Amino acid sequence: MAVRDDSWYRLAACRGMATGLFFPESGRPDPAVVAEAKAVCAHCPVRERCLAVGLREEHGIWGGLTVGERRTARRAQPGEAA
Ligand code: SF4
Repeated sequence: MAVRDDSWYRLAACRGMATGLFFPESGRPDPAVVAEAKAVCAHCPVRERCLAVGLREEHGIWGGLTVGERRTARRAQPGEAA
């Protein structure tokens, strides 16, 4: 069984912040909440790693991208169906 390495999270800009900021209500999250979360992600030193981990997550903001933005990013990857 593979063990997931989550050690990168120790450097996360969001560490210790309210989880609700990065996991707003699904459906139509408050744009102000999303903007606040993205502002934190914008200066996060582990943003790329976070996005790589969260690219297939169906909830929350990972690497500064929303669910829909990650879906678009996945489609842009080589070998992914459009
Ligand atoms: S990119 Fe955003 S969600 Fe990911 S670890 Fe950094 S601050 Fe947290």
